[in-house]
Amino acid sequence: AVRCTDVVKRYGTFVALDRVSTEIGTGEVVCVIGPSGSGKSTLLRTMNGLEAIDAGTVNVLGHTLPGPRRELETIRRRVGMVFQNFNLFGHMTVRENLVLAPMTARGLGRAEADEAAQKLLTRVGIGEQIDKYPAQLSGGQQQRVAIARALAMEPEIMLFDEPTSALDPEMVNEVLDVMRDLARGGMTMVVVTHEMGFAREVGDRILFMAEGQLLVDAAPATFFTAPEDERQKAFLSKVL
Ligand code: ATP
Ligand code: MG
Repeated sequence: AVRCTDVVKRYGTFVALDRVSTEIGTGEVVCVIGPSGSGKSTLLRTMNGLEAIDAGTVNVLGHTLPGPRRELETIRRRVGMVFQNFNLFGHMTVRENLVLAPMTARGLGRAEADEAAQKLLTRVGIGEQIDKYPAQLSGGQQQRVAIARALAMEPEIMLFDEPTSALDPEMVNEVLDVMRDLARGGMTMVVVTHEMGFAREVGDRILFMAEGQLLVDAAPATFFTAPEDERQKAFLSKVL
């Protein structure tokens, strides 16, 4: 579904991604972990063209970046993204947040988009919140709205950038449960996370990054129980 080949991203002279290559298969759940500033978010953002790259290529669902604008637009439409801070439109109700993109970008009619919105909200466990504004919801509810909004575009790949990091602890699980369900349903997912339990239990593979490099690509069982890389060991000793 996604293939990164020797991807380099620089900010000025600073190298944020240093020849990163990896492949993510259809239906796979890949968790990306590593210290702060290691390039996790940057890598994720290259996978839907949010971040222009300086060298290498990113192929998403058969479309290659860098490439023509149309390729970028196709990729954006077919890849959903969920951020740490929800990024909902605060001046719109939950319903409006959910129907906007399907109506403008997928050409759905109002009734159809509305029905889809209601179904998705029910699926993430907050069907009764549809006419509220984001500010009237808890953090966990807002993040579930953000997931539902991404799903409303019927993406083939979902990218998550620390989706539970901004949440109070008691709300983390309601969001992780939704993600678990998605994974079980066969969604291709790339998840940057500090939730080691989730990575271990739900991830098919773990990518470990440090200083812009992809240092380890391993199955969770190996990654957590038999670390080989020194920086991986140091990181795990802090978070486990
Ligand atoms: P965290 O766990 O804190 O979210 P991260 O692994 O997601 O960290 P990135 O956000 O990918 O890290 O950033 C990688 C490096 O690139 C960091 O050192 C960061 O300061 C730098 N960086 C990111 N965005 C920019 C930017 N727009 N301009 C300059 N430097 C940037
Ligand atoms: Mg980040």
